[in-house]
Amino acid sequence: LLDVRNVRKTYPRHDEPGRRVVLDDLSLTVSPGDVVCLIGSSGSGKSTLLRCLDLLEPIDDGVIEFQGREISDPLVDPRDVRRDVGMVFQAYNLFPHLSVLDNCTLAPRRVHGVPASAARDKARELLHRFGLSEHVDKHPDRLSGGQQQRVALVRALCTDPALLLLDEITAALDPELVGEVLDIVRSLAEAGTTMVLATHEMSFAREVASHVCFLDGGRIVEEGPPAQVLGAPEQTRTREFLRRVL
Ligand code: ATP
Ligand code: MG
Repeated sequence: LLDVRNVRKTYPRHDEPGRRVVLDDLSLTVSPGDVVCLIGSSGSGKSTLLRCLDLLEPIDDGVIEFQGREISDPLVDPRDVRRDVGMVFQAYNLFPHLSVLDNCTLAPRRVHGVPASAARDKARELLHRFGLSEHVDKHPDRLSGGQQQRVALVRALCTDPALLLLDEITAALDPELVGEVLDIVRSLAEAGTTMVLATHEMSFAREVASHVCFLDGGRIVEEGPPAQVLGAPEQTRTREFLRRVL
């Protein structure tokens, strides 16, 4: 489904001339149904990788292929790609002036040309499935952080994305609200939704991931099934990271 090959990404330095390498010869393959968890210290490049996959950032070198198409080609329209990719960020970015239901139907109607009534039916069904029925007509500022983030997930699902990118979607939440958001991700994983997610929740990664990638300095230092990477890491840097966070 997704093939990332030898991707390099640099940013200009603030302090000195030259550029800073943020993703360094990074390769990653994601098959349908995979749940890939990106872990690693702050600044290791997790968010940058997700942003490159959603074409929010251009890459310097390498190839990103999605659904057999080379989407890193500068001629590809990012909007075409985002039709099939859902992305949810750390801070809930719901449209504040729209109701929950309108937040969820906007992209299906505007981007996918789904008729309004069909878009509403689908959004209501998904909101119901994730326990949000009573909130459909509310504005986001009337919801808790956990509820807002659940709506953000439902909104991303309303377009039936082939791939879901999630960047630390629980990081801004109070601890007691983390569980309800992770429950949704867990049920999506069980339903076979293909996801690439950055997370600091190691126990969650261990539970839902089909594949864990440990990033350090913009490289994948170690990857494999969670039992291996989190349970019996081979690399010293992975072990040091896990000792710090566990
Ligand atoms: P965190 O766990 O804190 O979210 P991360 O693994 O997501 O960290 P990134 O946000 O991908 O890390 O950042 C990787 C590196 O790229 C960092 O050194 C960061 O300072 C740098 N960086 C990120 N965005 C930019 C930007 N727009 N301009 C310059 N440097 C950037
Ligand atoms: Mg990040």
